[in-house]
Parts: sequence; structure tokens; C-alpha cells
Amino acid sequence: MPSLSEETHGRMARLLPGATIGIIGGGQLGRMMALSARYMGFRIGVLDPTPDCPAAQVADFQVTAAYGDKSAIRELARRSDVLTYEFENVDADAIDEVRDITATPQGTDLLRVTQDRVHEKRFINEHGVRTAPWRQVDDCDALRSAIDNLGYPAVLKTRCGGYDGHGQVVLHDDSDRRRVEDRAEREGRLPPSILEGFVDFAFEASILVSGNGTDFVTFPIVRNIHRHNILHLTIAPARVSKEVERETHALARLLAKGFELSGTLGIELFITRDDRVIVNELAPRPHNSGHYTIEACSIDQFDAHIRGIAGWPLVQPRLLSPAVMVNVLGQHVAPTRALIGDHPEWNVHDYGKAEVKHNRKMGHITVLTDDTERTVGELEATGCWDDLRDSASRRLS
Ligand code: AMP
Repeated sequence: MPSLSEETHGRMARLLPGATIGIIGGGQLGRMMALSARYMGFRIGVLDPTPDCPAAQVADFQVTAAYGDKSAIRELARRSDVLTYEFENVDADAIDEVRDITATPQGTDLLRVTQDRVHEKRFINEHGVRTAPWRQVDDCDALRSAIDNLGYPAVLKTRCGGYDGHGQVVLHDDSDRRRVEDRAEREGRLPPSILEGFVDFAFEASILVSGNGTDFVTFPIVRNIHRHNILHLTIAPARVSKEVERETHALARLLAKGFELSGTLGIELFITRDDRVIVNELAPRPHNSGHYTIEACSIDQFDAHIRGIAGWPLVQPRLLSPAVMVNVLGQHVAPTRALIGDHPEWNVHDYGKAEVKHNRKMGHITVLTDDTERTVGELEATGCWDDLRDSASRRLS
């Protein structure tokens, strides 16, 4: 293949400019991956059911079909030199089936592990990394014995398919448990789940790690503030102790090495008041909390993803400036657009989604700053995010 160099790196030959990267999923993450790939001179194909989806707007071609359509995945693979994905619920078997026709440097182990909370927690713990205490829960008897073990409060999460708080419920007492049992009886079964001990964290954080199969680099630890289980603000860097800093970068490298990671992995964390670092979950792709890296870091999470899957070398990212990233959901589009003219400091990203919907991620804004607390206050003071009842700046104090 002319676009692959003779020299191999890790599991695949290094991909050179002019080669085609196929992305399964054409949302904002695919779009930002595609923009990075463009700078490097790659061509881009996207598989997504929505014509003119965010990634297709900046790609060379789109295969318009459902994500799970195996013949469409085959077509994308046939037309691409390397295949990647922007979300975790990709059909891993379908990717395995095209390994003979295109490079799949990320493999499918990472997907299979992160698609199932039991496998994910096991993988993390087997690498000596802390999670909340957890139990596998396959039926109501198992739920009772898990509660006997972990006590209340506890969080019941479906093993597969949950995101942004969907598929999970906090159990405070026996009446909450009975509600879950009643629903299971009505529906004929309890969906395969896990029960986690409730973590009384000081704040939520995340770290990104990128790899090219053999070398791994970590991004700064950031603090995340959610509203209604959707990421609202990311503050970079998070203010953490030296010990938390050291432990978090070490665990990120350890997990990346365990996966022989190619591309970017997001690691969501809880930081406790007594400085324990607890991994909540893994995202086998660039992460919303890493969007600030586009302006604030020497290499961003999408560049690192593309370099990683292309088998290029990676350099440790440097934070060039502290930053605050705020998500623009459907209800924030009109108020933020009305204020663009007043805020030259806003780095505005719009994902080009045709339909504006409440709580749908439509874009984000990153502000580089020397004073992240002041910037959070200024963003909140615009009133653009007033639909979110409690103010993030209050939470920060
Ligand atoms: P998840 O879908 O696992 O990312 O969880 C969504 C949100 O629920 C997290 O961002 C936390 O705010 C909260 N959460 C999840 N698991 C726990 C836990 N074990 N203890 C306390 N809060 C949790």
C-alpha cells in the first residue's frame, strides 16, 4: 500500500499523509478527529446514519448507514487504510471481521472491556487501580446480598449501554431496593447490573492518556462539574496535591500499557477529601473533558488520537495556559450566539448539528485564563447557562 511506510511501529506500519482514516460515528468527536487528521494531510471517511452529520461536513466521504450495519462497516473498511471509532458502543465483532481488509490498531479488547462494567472494573482492579467497591448483580437475590456487603447508599448501574447517568439509580434504603425489585418483576428480570458503593467524593476529575501501541503520554488532570449528569464545565488544571498528581498520571500510564493503547482514552475519576483517587469509568476515545486541549495544550487529544492510530511518535503534552471549557447544550445555543460579539476571549466551537434539542451537545466554548475561578464566575454571570439551577461557581468555593 503506497500510503504506508515500510518501517513498522508497534502492530502496524506507520500511516503517511494521503492515507484514508475511516471513522465509525460522525458526531462531534468524529468531527474533531477529522479536523486533526486533515491538518496532517489524511483523507477521512465517516460512517453515520445522518446525512451531513458533524464529521461528514469536514470529511471526504460518508457511508450513510446505521452504526451496526456490518456491510456498511465493511464498505468503510474497504475504502480506508485504518479504522477508528468515536463512541464505545461499536460492534466489536464487526471490527474484528474487517481486520483482514484494513488496519485496526486499537484492536477490540479495549472496546469489549469498556462496553461491560464488570469487565471494566475487573480490568482496572487487576492492574492494581482503585475503583468504588462493587458487586456483580444478575438478579434480585444477588442485589440483596450486594447490599448486605456494600450497605446504603449504593449505585446500581446496568452492565452495558449506560451513559451520562442513564441506566443507573442511587439506592438510599430498602424502599429504593423494593422499587427496583418491583420493576424487575414487572419486566420479567433485572437487567445485568453492578452495584457500587457510593463514593462521597470531593470533586470529579479526569485524565486523558494517548498511545501508539508502545509509548504513552498523559494530559493534565482536570476538574469536571456536571449538571443533571451531563458535563457542564471543565477546569484545567485541577488543583490537586502532588500525591494525587503522581498517582493519577501513574495509573493512566498503567491502564494504557495494559491495553497497549493506540489512540486516546478518557479516564473519569473521583477525588476524595482524603486524597484518594478512584477510577469511575473509562471512555475508549477522546473525551468531552479534553476539548480544552485544542487551545490550551501543545498537542490536543484529537491530534494525539490520530497520531496514535497512525503509529506516529507522541510527545508529552504541555499545558500552555490554564483554561475553562463550558458545554453549549441546545438551550444555550441562542443565548451564547447572542453574546459572541461581546466575548473575543471565547473560543467558540459549533458542531454543525442541524437539529437543536434540549440537553443535546451542540458545541463548546474554551476560555484561556490566568484565573479559572474568575472565568467560571464570568461565564456564569452572562446568564447563558441559567437553566442549570445551581451555580457552578458556588460549587467551586
Ligand atoms: P457514570 O455513568 O458511571 O459516569 O456516572 C454518572 C455520574 O453519577 C458520575 O459522574 C457521578 O457524578 C455519579 N456517580 C457514578 N457512580 C458513583 C458512585 N459510585 N458514587 C457516587 N457518585 C457516582
